Amino acid sequence: MARIKKKISWGAICLVSLFLIAAVLLTAAPYLPFSIPDWRDLGRAVGLYSKAGDSVTFFNVGQGDCTLVQSGNFAALIDTGAAGVIDLPRKLRHMGISSLELVIITHLHDDHMGNLSVLLKQTTVKRVIMGSPISLDDANQSLYQEALDDAADRNVPVEGPRLNEPVAVGNYTIEILGPFQSFAEENNRSLAVRVWDAHSSFLLTGDMQAEAENHLLQFCPERLKADVLKVPHHGSATSSTPAFLKAVSPAYAVFNVFAGSQSLPNTEVLERYRSAGIGIYRTDQNGSITFSYDDQTNRLTGKAEDGVCSTLSTGLKAKRQF
Ligand SMILES: [Zn+2]
Repeated sequence: MARIKKKISWGAICLVSLFLIAAVLLTAAPYLPFSIPDWRDLGRAVGLYSKAGDSVTFFNVGQGDCTLVQSGNFAALIDTGAAGVIDLPRKLRHMGISSLELVIITHLHDDHMGNLSVLLKQTTVKRVIMGSPISLDDANQSLYQEALDDAADRNVPVEGPRLNEPVAVGNYTIEILGPFQSFAEENNRSLAVRVWDAHSSFLLTGDMQAEAENHLLQFCPERLKADVLKVPHHGSATSSTPAFLKAVSPAYAVFNVFAGSQSLPNTEVLERYRSAGIGIYRTDQNGSITFSYDDQTNRLTGKAEDGVCSTLSTGLKAKRQF
């Protein structure tokens, strides 16, 4: 009898110890330098947290682009930001996202594709769309090759961009609008990506410059209109021509810029948006910005990490034919 009691008490001690170790690890997970599940992951696994609704989030990744399109259980990324600025797989996991239907890389520069490899290693990615290099420097070429190798290791298909092939991600549709010709300069090779649902529209432009903007104006001016524009090339003076802004006529513009940058966004470009009455969000000042549509009020709301919040009635825009 005494021996049984001794066995039970040792078993109980082991169980309690394991539980305590697990509890400590789950609690400490967000602060550890490596990724392990935390309480929120556990909560999601047992159905305590529901998935988010429909939203488009422009992450603050310094001077880089990384945009999340999320609709119910479906999510896609357009660009990944530079490596090491944020722990992107962990951030996604904390948002309840363990799988991406699609990752689009607008162009092959580190501030746009830098996290692609780590994403492929730590997140389920079903498909990657990105162009092929023409004239990359050694650093970007090796990032590109590393991502290709990681995708091949995990049997993730990497496809070249194709026009007129919209992809559904939950309630959103994602479509590549251009470029229509092969530019030599990598920034101008940026894919123009249109994201829309029944109520709102977004245009993402990578780091395109005036030449690429003019091309879009020539080939698909009627498809450029959007409620929110991801400002081309971090607000540099080489982009955001008046004709392009007029064609897009966004209600809001998002500048993906690095806090402390002396040159970006360009002052004249910033003023060009302001004088056109376009609402401005800056990731260096506002942090990450999430746009979501409220069916009750028929308004598109932008919420920034720093608390800045604005709403836009999309009643008329909702009737647009895309
Ligand atoms: Zn860039």
